[in-house]
Amino acid sequence: MTVNIKRLNASQNDFDSQLATLLAWDDSVDHQVNESVRHILHQVKTRGDEAILEFTEKFDRLNVDSVAELEMSQNRLQQALRAIPEDQRVALEQAADRVRDYHERQNQKSWQYQDEDGTVLGQKVTPLDRAGLYVPGGKAAYPSSVLMNAIPAKVAGVGEVIMVVPTPDGVVNDLVLAAAAIAGVDRVFTVGGAQAVGALAYGTETIPAVDKIVGPGNIFVATAKREVFGTVGIDMIAGPSEILVICDGKTDPDWIAMDLFSQAEHDEQAQSILISPDADFLDAVEASINKLLPTMERADIIRTSMTDRAALIQVTDLSEAAKVSNRIAPEHLELSVEAPEALLDEIRHAGAIFMGRYTAEALGDYCAGPNHVLPTSGTARFSSPLGVYDFQKRSSIIGFSAKGADRMGRVASVLARGEGLTAHARSAEYRIQNDE
Ligand code: NAD
Repeated sequence: MTVNIKRLNASQNDFDSQLATLLAWDDSVDHQVNESVRHILHQVKTRGDEAILEFTEKFDRLNVDSVAELEMSQNRLQQALRAIPEDQRVALEQAADRVRDYHERQNQKSWQYQDEDGTVLGQKVTPLDRAGLYVPGGKAAYPSSVLMNAIPAKVAGVGEVIMVVPTPDGVVNDLVLAAAAIAGVDRVFTVGGAQAVGALAYGTETIPAVDKIVGPGNIFVATAKREVFGTVGIDMIAGPSEILVICDGKTDPDWIAMDLFSQAEHDEQAQSILISPDADFLDAVEASINKLLPTMERADIIRTSMTDRAALIQVTDLSEAAKVSNRIAPEHLELSVEAPEALLDEIRHAGAIFMGRYTAEALGDYCAGPNHVLPTSGTARFSSPLGVYDFQKRSSIIGFSAKGADRMGRVASVLARGEGLTAHARSAEYRIQNDE
């Protein structure tokens, strides 16, 4: 059964509306999920540990007497690290080293300067006291997710990183615990879903409240994060994964087909788009897709994703490809061209940009170094990959000298009186030197 992939041509009159249809996806709010998440959060907020035990039994079929039993000790994490196959441990450690090395370069420092009056101004950068990391674990395990979320937090200097991960039927995933050990996660609780998000947001007798919750999860987790935002910070609410490949037509079509699959296999709503000025190349990639699809383990998911949401877009040249890509603002952008540096100049919006034919997006998912938590659904127009900066906050520093207080006090006084705020005005005026 061949996959029929949508073909678009940027020169056609109706391209704009076709592109809009292509990018639309179902993000409608499910009221039933909303209701049930609100109920779970309220229960956790008011009943703490007791509610955690109840929901863990209900949703993960795990019956224990206390939340303390759901905590994995550091010894248990080390035990998991020893239990996993050697090649997996080495691969996790190699990935962690590169992710750490990359993120260390993002570390921001406090800064100050002095103006001509001797007044000191600046910003003090402070890591969060506590961060919460949600690691999904219902249907599959994601050790790479642990590294990508925990390492930037540790590099930022976060006081304590608390991880939550569901263990349906009590089945603990050693790979996830091993990744937590490697990343230096401080405490791990085997709790999942909205109840875990609630515990991190409000705190329970056993699980400490955090300042920010990061990490992906299913609809219950995402809805709960949206709901607790404001009580705590959150990273983002991620939509389906996306890849956009711009190719000059000279890369092996099999490579491009597999790169498109690498996102399509995530889920049915994932989006894979190829843009090229070479119509024959688009045909060749379509042929590769049909040739390779039956060899894929997740062929059904890929087929649905490619049929519903993929597209092959023809453009006149690479410059036009960059313009179309900027309109899409993809999560992952591969520049599979001879001179990616030149094309990079024209790219404005993308979560991560993969330069040249040898840079498969999949490497970025695991071990290149940059974060794999990226803005989706066009939000790369205004947001950035998860990074050390997400775990640090800034305080302004203002230190007036007597001379500065005199000079700027006069300015403040005028503005405050203009706003009718007398206390503001007098507070500034007290510090004005009397020059009579
Ligand atoms: P999960 O940990 O997100 O969810 C499991 C939890 O959902 C359970 O512990 C349970 O508490 C809760 N739950 C299940 N059914 C419920 C119900 N009827 N009512 C209330 N709560 C319920 O794991 P998952 O389900 O495997 O989902 C993982 C998600 O994370 C997927 O959507 C996957 O695509 C996504 N993901 C995204 C990335 C990324 O980087 N964007 C990475 C990894 C995973």
